[in-house]
Amino acid sequence: MKLRLDRLVFLLLPVCPVVHAAPPPCVFCEIVAGTREHALVHRDDRVLAFLSIGPRNPGHTLVVPVRHAETFGDVPPDTLHAMTDVARAVAAAFPRAGLRCDGYQLQMNNGRAAGQTVGHAHLHVIPRFAGEAPAEPEEARRVAPAALASVAARLRAALAADPPPAPRPPLPALGEEVPLERIREICVAYGLPQLWRKIERDPPPRPFRSDGCTGWFDDWQGVSLYPAGFLHDLKYWAGYPGEDVERLVADAELMIDVARLLGSTAMAETMFRGVRIGGGEQLNAPFSWGFGRQPPRP
Ligand code: 5GP
Ligand code: ZN
Repeated sequence: MKLRLDRLVFLLLPVCPVVHAAPPPCVFCEIVAGTREHALVHRDDRVLAFLSIGPRNPGHTLVVPVRHAETFGDVPPDTLHAMTDVARAVAAAFPRAGLRCDGYQLQMNNGRAAGQTVGHAHLHVIPRFAGEAPAEPEEARRVAPAALASVAARLRAALAADPPPAPRPPLPALGEEVPLERIREICVAYGLPQLWRKIERDPPPRPFRSDGCTGWFDDWQGVSLYPAGFLHDLKYWAGYPGEDVERLVADAELMIDVARLLGSTAMAETMFRGVRIGGGEQLNAPFSWGFGRQPPRP
């Protein structure tokens, strides 16, 4: 039996399917859907930013995930990264938008006890400056969204000059044949320029299809491991007969990515033990290193 490293990894692991409940309706979902008036600051596939109707100071922005999630802990890690990218760009845009901003505050209230009043996760980005008046209660600060339109327009213009990084391109579906141009885009977006240079110099004879790690599961405890699995497959497709060090690096990077995605090393350690210590030897089956350049077996 021919055994792929990643197949072995995932055969060794129990799979825990996750059922996603339909998102409950909420005011920020209405803003995302465009059915509630709001003063827009930024929008992309994963993140929306708009002005708070109860601003602590002019420019007070809320950065929210497009897909409903209740608290910080419920937002998928890649969306959280996109939210912090947007928050950073918004904070940098405050002075360019002519807003008073000696410093700024990032705040996220999670759960009622922590002051969360809207049950759709949101990151506050609040300009702060010396000599501010003490904050009034939020209800007393409320204004109509239309009153925020000119500040929002200034912020949008300031952001256009230095926007948040473009969201990464969506990864192809399992088994989908991926043209080289798309592979180039993915390598650039995921910080793999050396891998792309290698592929460009010497493209593997067979078209790329991701069929490996990602075939075993998409979610692990609610976290999508697809990107880690996909990139691992891509690295294997691009090599590696006779390139043992690269192969080890690719496996180590998969384990690091998984540990980062899950915010824990436990799963990565299990993979490491399963592959490197238990491994193919115990199953008495040879690994197949790389499926792009491997010469056909006799
Ligand atoms: P929390 O207390 O949940 O951290 O903050 C909720 C934030 O949402 C406050 O800044 C509040 O003013 C703002 N907010 C509540 N309802 C709306 C709304 O319908 N539209 C907008 N733009 N902001 C809202
Ligand atoms: Zn919502």
